[in-house]
Amino acid sequence: MTPTDALIDALRPEVRALPAYNAGLSAGHVREQFGVTRIAKLASNENPYGASARVADALAQALADGIAVYPDPACGVLRAALAARLPVDAGQLVIGNGSEDLLSVASHTFLAPGDEVVTVVPSFGLHVICPQSVGAIVTTVPMRDLEFDVDALCAALTPNTRMLLVSNPSNPVGCAMDGAQIKRLLSCVSPGTLVVWDEAYYEYAVATLGYADCLALLAESGLPWLVLRTFSKAYGLAGLRIGYGIASDSRLADLMNRVRTPFNINHLAQCAAVAALSDPEHVAASVAHVTSEREGMRASLLALGYMPARSCANFLFFDAHEDAVALSQRLLREGVIVKPWRETGYANCLRVSIGSRDDNDLFIEALTRLGAAQSRGMQIEIH
Ligand SMILES: *Cc1c(COP(=O)(O)O)cnc(C)c1O
Repeated sequence: MTPTDALIDALRPEVRALPAYNAGLSAGHVREQFGVTRIAKLASNENPYGASARVADALAQALADGIAVYPDPACGVLRAALAARLPVDAGQLVIGNGSEDLLSVASHTFLAPGDEVVTVVPSFGLHVICPQSVGAIVTTVPMRDLEFDVDALCAALTPNTRMLLVSNPSNPVGCAMDGAQIKRLLSCVSPGTLVVWDEAYYEYAVATLGYADCLALLAESGLPWLVLRTFSKAYGLAGLRIGYGIASDSRLADLMNRVRTPFNINHLAQCAAVAALSDPEHVAASVAHVTSEREGMRASLLALGYMPARSCANFLFFDAHEDAVALSQRLLREGVIVKPWRETGYANCLRVSIGSRDDNDLFIEALTRLGAAQSRGMQIEIH
């Protein structure tokens, strides 16, 4: 046994058992491996219209000012800008290197080995991986017919549940709970449970008729909660890594601020986020384009015999009627990158981001040629 073997043997078993995050392939990788020139990257829910032009200006200015100095560890300018737009105090805000950083910080702050966490399956991978990395025990509650099963979630919650972790809208499915469902779910939560509400697709969802004001419902509940949002999706800043958390109480934010590394948000990301916030028209235009493209893609999928789940986000999730990994491999050769789901029970499901019109067309054309419905010559009935 080498010293490295011995060291690995001595580590916390939960670290050795951690699953790897299933990240999407890069366009460069696919271009190189498959020799295709035209790529539609529809696997990571990025904004096809990119960031606001104001972001490029802010970055140029920040670079000209210099990057030799450490960033503001308190992210003061950004927190003030967010607090001016949200019904909360700046003290309730925590900024992270992407909201995935905040999932990790929240796990390290609020969870201990053996603590119970309840989340939903299918789920965003880190909702399972982050709690497990600190030794928490994660119970995953299946959805029913690709909708949240609030009764099953209530049944899984106990007074010992330390954290309830929900992505609303759901990633990967795209559906969201309505106000009555959220109220019912929160009524089942014990006072000792932290509700972590991941709203990575907030800007898309809030533009959808009937989307519930989660912040208000959480505030009404009297429970401790943490809402997570991000600049990676509708704001188009995924490459810079910046997201934020809104805590029910500044004491929770303060604890997270002690656990996170002090300079976790670089200076360029802070400047970019402030600039992005100053241009709500850009976000609104992106959301409007994506929403209309989403409905176009939904219609195309239905015409091909697929049944995408209800979505108020910038992606669609559907049963491909075949192994989704095999299908997505065939799509890669056509330059189309999508995300096959890998959780048990969802191996035939695929998540496709809504991209530009051209990217969406490339996906639908490739799926028309390569999908199971076509190759089997299925007679398709549309309900
Ligand atoms: C994309 C996504 C995130 C991570 O976003 P970053 O801010 O880029 O880290 C978090 N939660 C969900 C549900 C997501 O889909």
